[in-house]
Amino acid sequence: MSLSLIQSKADLAAIISKHIVLREGRKALRGNCPFHADQSDSFMVSPEKNVFKCFGCGKEGGPVEFVMWIENVSFDAASRRLAQALGIAGD
Ligand SMILES: [Zn+2]
Repeated sequence: MSLSLIQSKADLAAIISKHIVLREGRKALRGNCPFHADQSDSFMVSPEKNVFKCFGCGKEGGPVEFVMWIENVSFDAASRRLAQALGIAGD
């Protein structure tokens, strides 16, 4: 199971859209950060790079980091969950 494959193949914008509303911005999608009390669209998602970054609390990463924090699971558990969803066989 390749971590870089998961980080590039898992559809980050689709995963995040299950948790918060994302709006189209000029270069990225944006919304209210799910990780801190946010009223000002501090949370940015780049579908092109498949990464997110919050300019309020500083959290950033890819699909694995998002699932890890939003589901409150370990990095390994988040990786396995995404691998299964992608149909990539894990150990
Ligand atoms: Zn935040």
